[in-house]
Amino acid sequence: MILTYKIKHQKDLSRELDLAIKVAEYAISNKDKLSTKNIAHIGLKSVIANQILRKYGRNWKVKAVKSVKLAIPNQGIKYQTGIINISSLKLFIPFNKSFQKINQIELDKLFAYVSVTVSEPPTIKTKTHIGIDLNTTGHCAVVAIKETGKVYKFGKKAEYIHKKYKSIRKDLQKRGLYKIVKKIKNRESRIVRDLNHKISKSIISLAVKEKGCIQMEKLQGIRDNKKHRKSFKYALNSWSFSQLQKFVEYKALLAGIPVTYCEPAYTSKCCSKCGTVGERNDKYFKCLCGHVEHADVNAAFNLAKMSTSIVQLQEGKSFLQAESDTRQKATQRSTATLEPHWL
Ligand SMILES: [Zn+2]
Repeated sequence: MILTYKIKHQKDLSRELDLAIKVAEYAISNKDKLSTKNIAHIGLKSVIANQILRKYGRNWKVKAVKSVKLAIPNQGIKYQTGIINISSLKLFIPFNKSFQKINQIELDKLFAYVSVTVSEPPTIKTKTHIGIDLNTTGHCAVVAIKETGKVYKFGKKAEYIHKKYKSIRKDLQKRGLYKIVKKIKNRESRIVRDLNHKISKSIISLAVKEKGCIQMEKLQGIRDNKKHRKSFKYALNSWSFSQLQKFVEYKALLAGIPVTYCEPAYTSKCCSKCGTVGERNDKYFKCLCGHVEHADVNAAFNLAKMSTSIVQLQEGKSFLQAESDTRQKATQRSTATLEPHWL
């Protein structure tokens, strides 16, 4: 699996970054003359200039550049006891994560983006089934464990954070302070990202403790659901839910926890006790069998149970069967994920 770490680098690279723009501009307008010799006069170290030349020379869509990251390939990077050494820039970056190989490092004004290949441990032998409903009404995630019947809720704070920043943004917009609005937006996404890291970490520790396999629903298309657009789950940007899902997935893979996905079609409509289609009324789920539960908890249990039990629809059709061919194993391929690592 490939992970990318974002690390503050503490070095003034403004000269090199300016030269990088010149190299990129050359590459964009001289696609037939992409030789290092032709850009030697610009004065950027060839190991870096080559990367930029290739990147922008092959890209036919980009017509102009505003900022260009310095890209250092594996050959230009040395690593020794917790320190990355980029000799061409005389740059040292403390780095204490375990990895197999450093693929490349990109640098901008403030940060180094260190892309590493890490080994995935073998999948653990699971004993329980864990359903995670990320598409919830008041929390970021509701987690249910089929075997113990226990429910765990994560991320109550997100609703408060979102409301707080929304009102700040509104106020600034009214006063025409658009630059500050953007700053505030960036700050909010940093806070949400940090929260998502904490939540996913807690969920994975729980999964490790319970030796559980994780089942989630695919989050694509939730914006199309007009019915619940006004509720919290649509109020909070859906990107934060898909970010949380990605974090849960890659942390699970790193811990040897299997992850599967299912279509969201029935997880919120069916009763987690008897399996028939019930009634969902905003936060509550009600079934003819008498079962009444918080809708998110009901959905989380459906997800936890889907992996083994056969649940009947009212028409007598098994929705598990209907869904089984669309159920997918989480991609084991490399997942590029940005993990902030503030130093
Ligand atoms: Zn029921």
